[in-house]
Amino acid sequence: MARSLNIPALVGLHHARHMIREGELLIVDGSQGVLIVDPDPIVLAEYQLRQSQHELEKKKLRRLKTTPAATLDGAPVELYANIELPQDLEGVHEAGAQGVGLFRTEFLFMNRKDLPGEDEQYEAYREVAKAMGGKPVVIRTLDVGADKALSGNGALMPNPALGLRAIRFCLAEPQMFLTQLRAILRASKHGCVRILLPMVAHVHEVEQALAFIRQAKEQLDDKGIEVGGMIEIPAAALALPMFMKRLDFLSLGTNDLIQYTLAIDRTDDAVAHLYDPLHPAVLHLVAHVIQTATRGGTPVAVCGEMAGDLALTRLLLGFGLRNFSMHPAQLPAIKERVLRSSLAEVQPLAQKVLRSSDAAKTRELLAKLNA
Ligand code: PEP
Ligand code: MG
Repeated sequence: MARSLNIPALVGLHHARHMIREGELLIVDGSQGVLIVDPDPIVLAEYQLRQSQHELEKKKLRRLKTTPAATLDGAPVELYANIELPQDLEGVHEAGAQGVGLFRTEFLFMNRKDLPGEDEQYEAYREVAKAMGGKPVVIRTLDVGADKALSGNGALMPNPALGLRAIRFCLAEPQMFLTQLRAILRASKHGCVRILLPMVAHVHEVEQALAFIRQAKEQLDDKGIEVGGMIEIPAAALALPMFMKRLDFLSLGTNDLIQYTLAIDRTDDAVAHLYDPLHPAVLHLVAHVIQTATRGGTPVAVCGEMAGDLALTRLLLGFGLRNFSMHPAQLPAIKERVLRSSLAEVQPLAQKVLRSSDAAKTRELLAKLNA
């Protein structure tokens, strides 16, 4: 949310409000996770310089808006944007994204007492589909629960991250799910819309969801729409072929994949230092999904935070990823990194990272990749 509003932000600063006096000057360095209270003039001048360099860099990157993303050896790379509300579209256009790779629809449902009706949802989805003018828009069906709680839902669950969330919740609320599916299908007439199912772990969840999509289509006398699944539960990553067989595309949700692989609650700052995208288990799952899907001819994207992390762009390219979806603010820098990367160089290094079982060695190889 802060990123969408272009506001630097830090989280998990306990007791900060008791330690900072009213009216004190603060430097919020969101990129390094640093807060400086009442900086001395030298520190302040240094940060003012960094701020203007950052602005200059952003301006330079804007020149790449219409440049197609491709590696130095000519491999095309698709760069998509993640959005939460139709209001985010301005940033999507500014960034020159090839489409919307993840529309997190739960934000239409949150912070209110009632559920949005079919027409209200249809208007929001249509607005995005139309504004993208024929470019793909991947609409994720409602992913509530755990970190994205609906008012009055989730409070009583013993373990919300493992509970009735995302596709499980939708399948348990068929009327609500059908309402959303009808709204998406109606909006699909106005652009190139695809449906993405969150948190799939079982084949029967996919089959039930596909049956609901067929039912919604019959009610609307509709034809085809591509349906994909989020791979964000380790079980789905490990049993990929059964999802490839039933779905048109896959999208790796690395935020949840890391949470569930490492058993780290992504909202709990007490264990945030253990939340590590470079853990060998995470990298093996990510590489396995990209390689298995690509070999089997199923399009695969990454739409979690890893896709927008500059330090990981070359590693993911080396694993074979050609479709990244991220917050629009991250897209220009990622494009520049792609334009300066050679697959011939990054592929062997990425394989070495996969073979490394030592954290220091992994970081050393990553530094080499990014040199
Ligand atoms: C993810 O889990 O990586 C993802 C993209 O979905 P969200 O962050 O909305 O859970
Ligand atoms: Mg997720």
